[in-house]
Amino acid sequence: MAFPPAFIDELVARNPIEDVVGQYVSLRRAGANMFGLCPFHGEKTASFSVAPDKGIYYCFGCHKGGGVINFQMEVEGLSYPDAVRALAKRAGMQVPEDEQYQSRYRQQERLWALHKEAARFFHAQLYAPVGKAALEYALGRGMSKSILTTFGVGYAPDGWDHLVRAMKAKGYTDQELIDAGLVTVSQKDNRKIFDRFRDRLMFPIIDVRGNVIGFGGRIIKKDSEAAKYLNSPETLIFNKRKNLFGLNLAKKSKQGFLILVEGNIDVVALHQYGFDNAIASLGTSLTEEQAALMNRYADQVVLIYDSDNAGQNATKRAIPILEKAGLQVKVLQIKDAKDPDEFLKKFGADRFKLLLEDSSNRVEYQLNAIAKKYDLRIDDEKVKYLQESADLIASLPSAVQREVYGARVAEHAGISGDAMKLEIGRAFKRRQSREKKKQEKIDLSPAQNLQPKSRTIRYDNMKSAMAEESVLAMAFRDPSLLDHAGALRAEFFSSELLGRVYRQLVLRHTQNLEVSPAVLEELSAEEMSHIVGITQRLQGPAGEQAFADCVRIICAEHQAASVSSEDDLLALQNRLKERKGMKE
Ligand code: ATP
Ligand code: MN
Repeated sequence: MAFPPAFIDELVARNPIEDVVGQYVSLRRAGANMFGLCPFHGEKTASFSVAPDKGIYYCFGCHKGGGVINFQMEVEGLSYPDAVRALAKRAGMQVPEDEQYQSRYRQQERLWALHKEAARFFHAQLYAPVGKAALEYALGRGMSKSILTTFGVGYAPDGWDHLVRAMKAKGYTDQELIDAGLVTVSQKDNRKIFDRFRDRLMFPIIDVRGNVIGFGGRIIKKDSEAAKYLNSPETLIFNKRKNLFGLNLAKKSKQGFLILVEGNIDVVALHQYGFDNAIASLGTSLTEEQAALMNRYADQVVLIYDSDNAGQNATKRAIPILEKAGLQVKVLQIKDAKDPDEFLKKFGADRFKLLLEDSSNRVEYQLNAIAKKYDLRIDDEKVKYLQESADLIASLPSAVQREVYGARVAEHAGISGDAMKLEIGRAFKRRQSREKKKQEKIDLSPAQNLQPKSRTIRYDNMKSAMAEESVLAMAFRDPSLLDHAGALRAEFFSSELLGRVYRQLVLRHTQNLEVSPAVLEELSAEEMSHIVGITQRLQGPAGEQAFADCVRIICAEHQAASVSSEDDLLALQNRLKERKGMKE
């Protein structure tokens, strides 16, 4: 949804970026700018900068950047409208918005509030007489009272309407309880509602903003026929593909990486033992959305799934999803325990820490996976095993690594280390010639390395794009330059993104509105970071002459492009004619 531009301007003006960022990052002034540790990637030296006069932030390490609204979005994981709303609230401003959005948001707020009340109710029941067996179960599984409080673990009593009555007394309606997925509707009994969760240990699922959005309920009776877990259904506020259990806590961890496990109980146990960066998916296999969410809080993830077959299969599925999201993946396989919870209870935190430090990287895991595919007693299969392993090992960047893993594979297959070295050498050469060809291609187009860092933004015409970048950077620095843009139109830009930004700038400038990256709309986080990066790179003067030069380049390139595409059309037409002629 679009907010009125004047409202956005006021919002930005009333939320100074240094104040908003300052709530999350401690900033130190150095000249006109301020510096601190980047909240978006783990780092020890301050490469995160804030320019109060321009109203923007930029990290020279991870290249994230934007205005105050983007910062709010990134740091709290909010959508654009929600970030605007949060900043409006901070500045005590009224948000103008459409009816539909407002009523949807009101409904969400009701459901969040209801879930919070429900979590309080369940937690209280755990310590009430009805919760005696549940509390004993939790304590018996080694959970401390303090960790039960940290996670807000509770108990849903056995019965039909404990929660229903408690929530109705707080003013919630039947419909709201249904919308929240906290009750089931009887088909027979006049659509009467009753508690969905009965006699279960309740784990609140809390999003990164701290809202309770659902529950996972575990049975406590040993011989129960019921499913081990019952989770909240999908609702207006709960999407199990987009959330992770424990991330509300793990996002605050100082560890710099995340530990991804399978079970809620594993997460709780890990946190209790000091591993406050543990999270779990919500009873489904890992999704791309969850990987992207994790990527917001860490660059690295250690995967520790259960040691059974299901867990190992899930590991194989999860690795490419995590890597695609940009995370560095390590796999830890636990031995002599079925899951991290059991491991901790058996061997303690120190042993786990050791395991973590030396957690096998992807190579080791992949080598194991290759080994599992083949029966080494059969010669044919042994050869395949060796070749496939050699290919993998040849891809390692360090000679030491190639040596170490080569020796290990040789030993495993019962061949000499020298034979293995030869095999790896061959695989290495094959690889090198492949890469050389690739490199040659890249060298032929030197413009390649000017391509934006973000993989989703590509420049087709580098010459024009460089001029387009300069035009924007100069205009941000001195908007009055836009008066000299002459006939330059957004359509002339070779980069759709840069053109789109240019259009917004011109519009704002002619309406006498603020011209700054901080007020741009409808840009993704990546696009925004890219634009702010451009303004950071601008060197040299932003004078009328330089601006006019760039404008000229863009116009010329645009004209050349339209001519050449006409040429192409002509050529195509001729070729078609020729071919037809041949047939006739
Ligand atoms: P425990 O250690 O007592 O077995 P756990 O939390 O580790 O508990 P797992 O059986 O390992 O449970 O299952 C992993 C996760 O998968 C659970 O935490 C839960 O989120 C989800 N899950 C398990 N069983 C079900 C089920 N029947 N329906 C929905 N989700 C389930
Ligand atoms: Mn488990």
